[in-house]
Amino acid sequence: MQHEVLLELKDVRRSYQSGSSQVEVLHGIDLTVRRGEMVAIIGPSGSGKSTLMNIIGCLDTPSSGSYKVLGQDTLNMEPDELATLRRDFFGFIFQRYHLLGHLCARENVQVPAVYAGVRKRKRDERANSLLGLLGLEERVEYRPSQLSGGQQQRVSIARALMNGGQIILADEPTGALDTKSGQDVMRTLQELNAKGHTIIIVTHDPRIAACARRVISIEDGSIKSDTINHDVPDPFAVQEQEQQDVEPHINNRWARSLGAHIDRFKEAFVMAYRAMLANRMRTLLTMLGIIIGIMAVVSVVALARGASERIISNIASMGTNTITVYPGERMGDVRSGRVRSLTPRDLKALEGQPFVDSVSATVQTSSLVRRGAEESNATVQGVSLDVFRVHGLKLKDGRIFSQREVDAKSQVCVVDDNTAKLFFATENPVGKNIIVGNVAMRIIGVLEPTDSFIIRGENPTIFTPYTSVMTRLLNQNYLSSIVVRIQDGFSAPVAENAIKSVLKNRHGRVDFFLQSSDTIMKSIEEATMTFTLMISAIAVISLVVGGIGVMNIMLVSVTERTREIGIRMAVGARQADILAQFLIEAVMVCMLGGLLGVLFSYAVGQLIMQLVPTITLSYSIDSILAAVITSSAIGIAFGFMPARSASRLNPIEALARE
Ligand code: ADP
Ligand code: MG
Repeated sequence: MQHEVLLELKDVRRSYQSGSSQVEVLHGIDLTVRRGEMVAIIGPSGSGKSTLMNIIGCLDTPSSGSYKVLGQDTLNMEPDELATLRRDFFGFIFQRYHLLGHLCARENVQVPAVYAGVRKRKRDERANSLLGLLGLEERVEYRPSQLSGGQQQRVSIARALMNGGQIILADEPTGALDTKSGQDVMRTLQELNAKGHTIIIVTHDPRIAACARRVISIEDGSIKSDTINHDVPDPFAVQEQEQQDVEPHINNRWARSLGAHIDRFKEAFVMAYRAMLANRMRTLLTMLGIIIGIMAVVSVVALARGASERIISNIASMGTNTITVYPGERMGDVRSGRVRSLTPRDLKALEGQPFVDSVSATVQTSSLVRRGAEESNATVQGVSLDVFRVHGLKLKDGRIFSQREVDAKSQVCVVDDNTAKLFFATENPVGKNIIVGNVAMRIIGVLEPTDSFIIRGENPTIFTPYTSVMTRLLNQNYLSSIVVRIQDGFSAPVAENAIKSVLKNRHGRVDFFLQSSDTIMKSIEEATMTFTLMISAIAVISLVVGGIGVMNIMLVSVTERTREIGIRMAVGARQADILAQFLIEAVMVCMLGGLLGVLFSYAVGQLIMQLVPTITLSYSIDSILAAVITSSAIGIAFGFMPARSASRLNPIEALARE
């Protein structure tokens, strides 16, 4: 009975580039292999056996000639179609086993099924049963380094059988084994042949070749003889009738389903995770760039947000219906301290306007304050009554001054908590005198502690009628600012324009500027925005640097793991599988780096807030999300190039790499 033709080579040639010339290694091989055969290819070292075997196994392609698998020409197949053949049809056994060192025996056996999209439970079952059949049931959890050569070769046989292994290709399978283990392996291969597997063995050892019924000898890249060894019984006669074990063990409907894709993604994820664990130190160092970058960005953004939130809430406490008039031309005008354009008469003029609820004035100065032997520098705020309401200042004790006292330029003052503590440790300050500059002032009230910006930190601040400061302390007739509170019902822009025209008429020019709490808030928001943008630019630079670090390490990793990539390709990984594995690894490194960066930033922020209570850091979900998304994007952007170069490796060259 003639069995089905599985493989058909016609005039197959293979040449390698050697310097500037082509060296032909295979000179026109014609070969047909039928289902159920056991073929030994024998020949001296360097005769081209491995080259031929790699072509048969679709790891390599002929330079010319045709090679058909199951009647289909391989010449026009896409890389992924060849990967499918390697995965579902062939099973490879290599001289040096080519197991993955960081996986245990069972996981190694499963690799082809992972790429074929077999469910985890089925994979485990089959891997265990195959290892059991090969006498390794005690060793399923062992790593290759914990197994002897013979055991490793049996693991690799189990791997070849995982997806069915209709054709088993064994390149010098006993070459690295002692005689006894070699005999075991050969017996296993014979048993598999008896079960219906087609087997092709490459060897330079005539005793091994003697196990096969068909022996093909190769010399210098040409077939010298193709003989039947009559000492070996005809496998076709012995083979069992039912050969279901030889059929591919893949449920094709499931393999194409979404579930299988998710499963494959999960496996790629696990592999990437394992690789990261295997190189912990390197992974950590790579991550460090991303961690520092993300940490810096998140912290600075939180700091800026915290500061602006604090200021804005301060301003909000002032209410939005006040407009402040300052001397000078704009905010930050360096001459504004010397511009003497605002006077008490402007104050009176504004008081007469219909939209005005009340007007208050301030004159600021700093002065030495004394009481007995105690003395300190203090901020003196010359104010009108309104200031207490506008800034939400509350009295702890005593009273605030009256309008009559303002008009009379009385020597009275309200002191803040800092001043009270400094000069009156135990006594009640109300009713006592202090000397401000050269002027004695009676304290009539004490304020509760506040975080209003009118009191700067620990600095003692004294509030006294602006009239008193102008005449008694400074002897000047101009004001530091005028605060206009608008009546309810008038809009701020209308009031602003009215104030402008009143003052312009009086002064003849615009030597003042207005600030409403609206404009302050806007300018703070703008400043925060500019600041955030600037930081973001720096962040982008630092993250690009981190990304380049990731790319560098990924390139090293690809180079280091070239052999692993070759093995994965030999057992049927698609280019996309390899790409996914390395890309996931890069993204995981970056994303984890990003998360750690956020976490560290948060921890450091909490610590700083504990130590320095005046600093507030405000973390927003947005910025944290942005950080994590950015870092993942960096992983994709900088991981893609190395991952793609990994996926495009030539399997043969990759396998040859040590
Ligand atoms: P065998 O397996 O029979 O020992 P090979 O098939 O490995 O022999 O090699 C056959 C010939 O092809 C050798 O002379 C070898 O130097 C050459 N050869 C194999 N691989 C390459 C390659 N990648 N580039 C150049 N020459 C190669
Ligand atoms: Mg060889």
